[in-house]
Amino acid sequence: MEKPFYRGLKIGVLGGGQLGRMLLQKSYSYNLEMAFIDPDTHAPCREISNWFYRGDLNDFKLVYDFGKKCDVVTIEIENVNVAALEKLEQEGIKVFPQPHAIKIVQDKGLQKLFYKENAFPSSEFFMIESKKELPLFMDLFPLVQKLRKGGYDGKGVQILRDITDLDKAFDGPCILEKLVDIKQEISVIACRGQNGDVKAFPPVEMEFNPEANLVEFLFSPANISKEIEVAAMELAKNIITKIDMVGILAVEMFLTNDNTLLVNEIAPRPHNSGHQTIEGNVTSQYDQLLRCLIAMPLGNTDITIPSVMVNLLGEKDCMGAVKYQGIKEAMAIEGVNVHIYGKAETKSFRKMGHVTVVDRDIDKAKEKAKIIKDTLKVIS
Ligand code: ADP
Repeated sequence: MEKPFYRGLKIGVLGGGQLGRMLLQKSYSYNLEMAFIDPDTHAPCREISNWFYRGDLNDFKLVYDFGKKCDVVTIEIENVNVAALEKLEQEGIKVFPQPHAIKIVQDKGLQKLFYKENAFPSSEFFMIESKKELPLFMDLFPLVQKLRKGGYDGKGVQILRDITDLDKAFDGPCILEKLVDIKQEISVIACRGQNGDVKAFPPVEMEFNPEANLVEFLFSPANISKEIEVAAMELAKNIITKIDMVGILAVEMFLTNDNTLLVNEIAPRPHNSGHQTIEGNVTSQYDQLLRCLIAMPLGNTDITIPSVMVNLLGEKDCMGAVKYQGIKEAMAIEGVNVHIYGKAETKSFRKMGHVTVVDRDIDKAKEKAKIIKDTLKVIS
């Protein structure tokens, strides 16, 4: 941690995963000095960043000491020590997104209260402290149980269908949500600059891998009406304004079978549902975040070409040193852009990379994406 930074502006990023890596790639365009901190010695940013520190993101002193060396601090994961960020903010370091927003996002219970207090549409919910209270909610079944803290990528979320599912219930502070009748899952990334300007990227649609409960395909633009598109973008802009943060905020929403938009969850950082902006939009989500961090005007969020993003997930039951099978065949397909995150080890459903397929015709992009899914395999 002793080495001095050598360029003008020092940006510190909590987390050194793939999101940080794509942020770093874009940062070269602005000749920014980027530093990362991550607990994993093999984190994706490790080998390509000048400044990489190993450390627990929940350790007050480590986060504080790291931030003290920076002009601006941001995050690529929300599970970080907020008290350290609050102290940094008080001492004049710019922390974007601001700690008060991270605090809300870290806790699905606080998120739900935030939606409710501000009349943002979201599914009905209850909070419990332990699974002992579940029998009180029998008339809510089937329901979705979510751990308030620590869950990610579908971990910490499960459906409880009936009383026989009580055995598998999580034990601890949770929210219970009504099972939503989902037609489509969409996401909008809103952005807010230091001067208060707000924009939103057009909605994308997400298709989940049913077994892993995480995004497998993403379609840009989403196949929704103009009316829903406008409403979703407005909703995301209102949320980033209300939560009063600078930076980018992914707003995941459900479109129900009766065409109602419900906010599912928010993430105040680059997001899996914005990867395709690198090739498919005028400005990428990474560029947009950097613009926010360095107090530059927000970029145009328009789609330049339709795209489909495929997450490259580790094949089920493959563990160990990673191999990519079929990459040459995949890259022979026109419009294919491969992103490999540089993680040495694969495991079942681990996010190891992604491919963005661009095509003027979204149906063709979808067909190509299906081929990619069947050809490009992450194995060990
Ligand atoms: P994570 O934070 O792990 O991504 P989410 O809260 O986004 O978890 O839930 C993961 C997925 O579970 C959602 O994308 C959706 O498919 C499903 N899901 C979550 N909440 C509900 C709900 N209330 N009704 C129906 N499905 C839900």
